[in-house]
Amino acid sequence: MRTLFVFSALLVAVCTQRSFEGDQVLRLTPTDEEQVSLVMSLEEHDHLQLDIWRSPVKSDLIIDVHVPQGSLQSFKVFLEHSGIQYSVMIEDLQVMIDDERAELERTTMMERTASNFNYGSYHTLEEIYGWMDSLVIEYPGLVQKQEIGTSFEGRPLYVLKFSTGGTRRPAIWIDSGIHAREWVSPASAIWMAKKIAADYGQEPSVTSLLKKMDIYMEIVVNPDGYAYTHTKNRMWRKTRSTVPGSKCVGTDPNRNFDAGFGGPGTSNNPCRETYHGPRPNSESEVQAIVSFVQSHGNIKSFISIHSYSQLLMFPFGYKCVHPADYDELEALAKSAVTSLTSLYGTRYKIGSICDAIYQASGVSIDWTFNQGIKYSFTFELRDTGRYGFMLPSKQILPTAQETWLAMKTIMEYIGDRL
Ligand SMILES: [Zn+2]
Repeated sequence: MRTLFVFSALLVAVCTQRSFEGDQVLRLTPTDEEQVSLVMSLEEHDHLQLDIWRSPVKSDLIIDVHVPQGSLQSFKVFLEHSGIQYSVMIEDLQVMIDDERAELERTTMMERTASNFNYGSYHTLEEIYGWMDSLVIEYPGLVQKQEIGTSFEGRPLYVLKFSTGGTRRPAIWIDSGIHAREWVSPASAIWMAKKIAADYGQEPSVTSLLKKMDIYMEIVVNPDGYAYTHTKNRMWRKTRSTVPGSKCVGTDPNRNFDAGFGGPGTSNNPCRETYHGPRPNSESEVQAIVSFVQSHGNIKSFISIHSYSQLLMFPFGYKCVHPADYDELEALAKSAVTSLTSLYGTRYKIGSICDAIYQASGVSIDWTFNQGIKYSFTFELRDTGRYGFMLPSKQILPTAQETWLAMKTIMEYIGDRL
């Protein structure tokens, strides 16, 4: 009976999920800006339903694009016609999603029986929220959970606070999961949260850091989107807010901050993945961060975790001028990335958002930087495109471990200057 129930639940889940059967992810290697803009202009053609996974950057003009099965033939003809080279990065997206889902269900089953959280797997939102409560219970003198707002669909927005006392101590903010489909981002943050809690009182650097400052972690900034990637559409990126007068749903929360709002690298079309929203802070998930940062008033560093591309970036994104602190930020990013690479040899690039990738407006770290939070950084975690957003779960732990080294370098640097 139980098996039957599980099976039919599975069937319902499978049937209501958007299928990506036959869809491919292509890696294009245009040779010049002209070919790039040719491809990028196709994104505006709604019927093709192209989904850019990775935009071209200045240092290499690679474009990763998810192409629905129905558009594959015409898109490939277009590429060949335009002389744009490409290779197939993911042969059938649904096959990868099915593998990932099967593993996810195995993990859920195993965890239910063992009541033991597996840090090396991806988890549903409910599992993550449950894990937060157990972390608070396990480390009562150190970890607290705060609700900083409510998502569009009414889910609580939680922040974990790591603190050894004091009031309004200088603090470091770390967030993950602002873009729903970038699963390795919250997965790595979960491991790091546990690491911070376990290292306190054991490892000298974390211990002395937590004697001077607090750490806040918002593990899932965009819970509506994250839940949606589990139940309906694995490739969802945005929030789930509705836009009056549009059939399309969702705003890109990392284009919704009040820093160059609506500028280059955003779209005013609600159907685009980089839709900036009707106005700055229109998303309750963004407003919650803005209110938290402003009312705290003593945040020294704001670090936002994304995937993929292996980059560590700092302001600005909305304008292509270097901030006054550029040299210091660049040197710190360099030493953070050196620590990261020392573990498994994973290569990262660094730079301002505009230099490293492209102009992007309304991003969180530009807003925090303009609020006076000098050490504002964005990570783009693994990989560089073999799996993209479908990074296999066996890479979660190595990704988290190496990222932690970079994170610690930044934290220690700031701690030394307090
Ligand atoms: Zn992202």
